[in-house]
This record gives sequence, C-alpha cells and structure tokens, in this order.
Amino acid sequence: MSNSQQNSTTYTGDIIGGVPVITHLNLDDLESGKIYRFMFQGSNMNIGQHWYVPVMVAKGNKSGKRLLLNTGIHGDELNGSRVIQQLFANLDPTQLSGSIIGVIQAAPNSLFHISRTWYSSTDSGEFTNMNGIFPGNKDGNSAQIHAHLLWNHLWHNNCDYAIDLHSQSTDTEYPLFVFADYRVAAIKTMAELIPADQIKNDEGEKGTVETTFVEHGIPAITIEIGAARSYQSEYINRTLEGIKNILNHLKICDYPLGRNAASYGSFIGNQMHSVKAITGGYAEIKVNLGDTVVQNQEVALQRNAFGDVIHTYLAPVNGLVLSLGTGATREAGGLLVRILY
Ligand SMILES: [Zn+2]
Repeated sequence: MSNSQQNSTTYTGDIIGGVPVITHLNLDDLESGKIYRFMFQGSNMNIGQHWYVPVMVAKGNKSGKRLLLNTGIHGDELNGSRVIQQLFANLDPTQLSGSIIGVIQAAPNSLFHISRTWYSSTDSGEFTNMNGIFPGNKDGNSAQIHAHLLWNHLWHNNCDYAIDLHSQSTDTEYPLFVFADYRVAAIKTMAELIPADQIKNDEGEKGTVETTFVEHGIPAITIEIGAARSYQSEYINRTLEGIKNILNHLKICDYPLGRNAASYGSFIGNQMHSVKAITGGYAEIKVNLGDTVVQNQEVALQRNAFGDVIHTYLAPVNGLVLSLGTGATREAGGLLVRILY
C-alpha cells in the first residue's frame, strides 16, 4: 500500500449492519457538515474474522479543533458509551467548527466477555489490559496489534484533544472522577471544565491511552464515570455537561456553559492511598463515596466464613473517599477503600 493510500480514509468495501468498514480514517477526506458512522476494522481473530470498532464522526461546516471521545478500552466499563451516544444524538454538524470523533467500543473483544482485559487465543491464551500497551505493537499479540491499529489508523492523526471515558472495575466504584496531568495547562483547564466529584492531579501511567496522547503533545484526560457494568444516568448527564463545556471552550460548538469544577465544588487532590485487603474474606465497608475520613478511622472490616471479624482497616490519612470495593468477598490485595487527599 502506498503512503498516499495509507493517509486517506480507506474503505474495504464491506458493509456491516448498513455501516461502511474502514481500515484508516482521515478526517480531511470527509465532506463538511455531516455526521458519519463507520466500522473500524481491528485485529484479526483465530477464526479469520475481524473485531470491528463502531465510530461516529461529526465534521463541522467550519474548520476548527478536533476532539476525540473514546470509550470501551476496558470491556466492563459502560457508562461512557451512553455519554457519546447522547452527545451525537443531539449534534448539528452544520453548527460545528471542527470535528468530534466518538469511538464506542474501542476493545470489542473485552466488551464481548464484559472484562477489563482482552483475550488472545495464542500460546494457550492470555489476557491483556489494553490500557497499558499504547501505542501498540504491530508484531505483538492480538491486543497489541489492535492497539497499534487504533493508535495509527484511527486516533492519533485525527485529534487535537482527547478524552478517554472509563469507570471503576467490576465490584468497585468511583463517583464522577477525573485523572489529569496538571503539568500541562490545557489539561488542567479541560479537567476543571468537568463538574466532577473529585479530580486527581496525576502524572499518568506509561502505556495508557491518556498518557500516550500527552506524550505525543495532545492534551488528554481520563474520566472515570462511576461503577462498572451499568448505566448511571446522573453521572452520564454530568459527564455530558462537562464535555459540552469543553466543546464550548475549544470553540467547536457554542453550547451554553454548564456547571464546572469550581461551581460544583469538585475536590481536587494529588495523592491517593488504597486500603487493600490483607487476607481473603467477606468485606464490610464502613464509609460511603465522598465521605470525609480522618486518620485511624475504621473504614472497613473483614470476616471469615463463620462470621468472626478477622481484620479491621483504618484510614492511613485524612482525606475523601474516592473509591470503594462493592463486592461482598475480597481476596488478599483487593481494593476496600481508596482515599484521595
Ligand atoms: Zn478503565
């Protein structure tokens, strides 16, 4: 394939559910003032079929900034899909300056088995956390190849700003919470346009979607929307409110400004401490999301199978409850309570 072909939006000619399949997206090729749906062709399975990623693009009548909204990198984190669906359902592309890309199921393999990890069948099978392997590896396992395709053929050349939508994992929960690297002013601005419950100034982790964008000079934040596996409408609506603020700020769309971190009273911290189970057993959590805790306050306990209390857990610091384990059983090392301070 020549360079010019690689740089153009590339259609395979296949249609899935009425939607054209592409192997490369270039927003410059698309006609202005329209909304598009694509199935982006991801990595190939052992059975010789591809994984496909549903993508929506709104290309404005006027040129301007390009915002990527991504979700589904972890397959049990679903609130973000409804945020993107609702935003696109009410968009008028003729009123936009710039473009919005919505990627709904970035890791369809993980969504299929409602899991944090991608399953590769090679070498007896292995599970990969997609949010640690970007920008991917075209010679790696199927997860790494898929990451490489997303990064090089869908995301990187098509956006100036990026937001990756997550939630907490199965059996744990967050409130509406933002990870943001405050060393970059544009990122701090994006984060504080979200009326989140809590924000963590965080330098990020190598290989995550957010940090890989930041390393490539593209301001990016991660929004953690509540709990896994469900739709939580209050968090979904508040995330949408924040994203509309960002679209206004970037002059992509003139939505009226809603609440932001300042007016909502978001708690902003730069340290967090996870209280983890030191043994297996039944867990009882003594605090709620957003509670203020003081050092040495009892925050959780664990019982054995007979109901005897085998361990109590104390807050190591003063702070706010950021995350909870919601599953009744916890193995050693499992999260009980996370405190932001
Ligand atoms: Zn996640």
